[in-house]
Amino acid sequence: MNSKIRVRYAPSPTGYIHIGNLRTALYNYLFARNTGGEFIVRIEDTDRTRYVPGAVENLINTLSWAGLDYDEGPEKGGAFAPYYQSERLSIYKEHADYLIKNKKAYYCFCTPERLSQLREEQKKINNDTRYDKHCLHLSEEEIQKNLADGVPYVIRLNVEKGIKIAFKDIVRGDVEFMSDIIDDQILIKSDGFPTYHLANIIDDHLMEVSHVIRGEEWLPSAPKHILLYQAFGWEPPLFAHLPLLLNPDRTKLSKRQGDVAVEDYKKKGYLKEALINFIALLGWTAGDDKEIYNFDELIKSFSLERVNDSGAVFDIEKLNWLNEEHLRAKPDSEIVVMLRDELQHTKYAKDDYTDEYLVNVIEAMKPRITFVKDIFEKAPYFFEEPETYEEASVKKGWKANSPDILKKFAEKISAIENPKKEDYEKAIADTATEMNVGKGNVIHPLRLATSGVSGGPGINDICYIIGKEKVEERIKRIIEKLG
Ligand code: GLU
Repeated sequence: MNSKIRVRYAPSPTGYIHIGNLRTALYNYLFARNTGGEFIVRIEDTDRTRYVPGAVENLINTLSWAGLDYDEGPEKGGAFAPYYQSERLSIYKEHADYLIKNKKAYYCFCTPERLSQLREEQKKINNDTRYDKHCLHLSEEEIQKNLADGVPYVIRLNVEKGIKIAFKDIVRGDVEFMSDIIDDQILIKSDGFPTYHLANIIDDHLMEVSHVIRGEEWLPSAPKHILLYQAFGWEPPLFAHLPLLLNPDRTKLSKRQGDVAVEDYKKKGYLKEALINFIALLGWTAGDDKEIYNFDELIKSFSLERVNDSGAVFDIEKLNWLNEEHLRAKPDSEIVVMLRDELQHTKYAKDDYTDEYLVNVIEAMKPRITFVKDIFEKAPYFFEEPETYEEASVKKGWKANSPDILKKFAEKISAIENPKKEDYEKAIADTATEMNVGKGNVIHPLRLATSGVSGGPGINDICYIIGKEKVEERIKRIIEKLG
C-alpha cells in the first residue's frame, strides 16, 4: 500500500446525485482531510448507454455547494490526469492486452445467441448462470483468424475456480469469497470500452489510491477486483464498504418512499450544514452523544474505524431537527440574505423591507421554524394585514368587552412616540388594571387583531416589529369586523 493516503470519489454521470453518493463523497473527503491525505474525483463514464449530458456539471456543482473541494479531478486536473475515464481508453486497452499476453484474460467471440442459449440451459439445471469458458480453449490460429476476420469479441478475465479470496474490510472486518461464484468477468466490451471493473482498478492503481471507500452495494465487486489486482501482480488498496442506507421500515432507501436526490433536499430549503451533518451521521458516530457538528468538527472527529457495518436509517425527523439547529446557529446577517431570496418567490416580492425589519422578524421566528421559508407560512402577518381571524381563537379570546379593551390599549400607545417592547408590555398591564380584567383579556384580542391567530412570538415582539401605526390600524379593523 502507498504510504500517502489518497482516496477517490468515482461517480458515474448517470443523472441525479443520490444521497448515498453524497455520503460516499463526504466520507472520502473527511477521511482525506482528517489524515492530511488527498481527495480525488474521477468520472467513471465508460458506460455510454447510461451517460446523461449535464450530469458531470451537476456533480461538480453539488460537491462545491456541499463544500467538498477536491485536490485532483475534472476541471482542476492533477498529476494523474485525465480524470475522465472516457479519455483513458488506450490505457485500459494496453492493460487488457497485457492480461491476454499473460494468459490471465482471453478473447471471447461467443455470439449473444450462444450466450443466451447457454444461460437458458444452465437455468434449467441449477439457475447458476456463468460463462462456460468456451473461448478459453480456442487455438491461437482460431483466435488470430477471428480477429483478422473482424469477428466481434469481448475480453474476459480467466477466473480460476476453487480459490479463496479473502481481505480485511476496514468497516466489515474479514471478508471471504470463493472464486467459484465469480463469472469470467468481461473486461473489455464489444464496443471497445472497458467495463467498470477493469477501468476502476487500473485507475485506482495508477492514481495511487490507498483506500477505496464506497457503498456496500460494491462489496460483491471487491473479490473481482482483488482477482484483477492479482492478475496484474499489483497490491490492492484497503477497502471500506459503507453500510446501506435504509428507509424507516429498514428496506433499502428508495425513491418510492421519499426523496433520494441531493437536489430535492436543496430545493426544499435544507441548509448544506444540516444536510452534511445529517449525512455524516448516516453510518458514523464519534462514540459520544454529540450530534450537532459543524464542518471542521466533522473533519476533526471522523474516522473509518467508527463507521458502522449495519444499515443506517434515513430519519427525516432528525434531518429537520438538524436543520432547525443549524438555522438557529446562523448569524442573522446570513439569514437575511436567504430570506430576501425566498421573498422573491412570494407575493411580497415587490414590497420594500429594510434589513432591520427582516432581522427583527428573523429573531422572533428563528425558534419556531424549520426552514427560512416557513416564516411566510407561519407569520404572514409580518408582511400583510390578517385577512381573516382564526375561528377557534375568536371563540375563545374575543369577548363582548374586547373592543373597549383594545380601544383603551390603542389610546395608551398612541400617546407614546416610537414605543419599545417594554412600552407595549406596560400598555398591556396598564390597560388590564384600568379595565379591571386579567392581562389575558388584553393579550388575546390584541394577538387576534395583529396576527389573526393565537400562537407565535410574544405579543410585545409582534407589536414592536410591525410598529405602532399598523397596530392601531389592525385594532381598528378587527373592531369593524368583529364588533
Ligand atoms: N462508478 C462507481 C459508482 O458509480 C464507483 C464505485 C467505486 O467506488 O468503486 O459508484
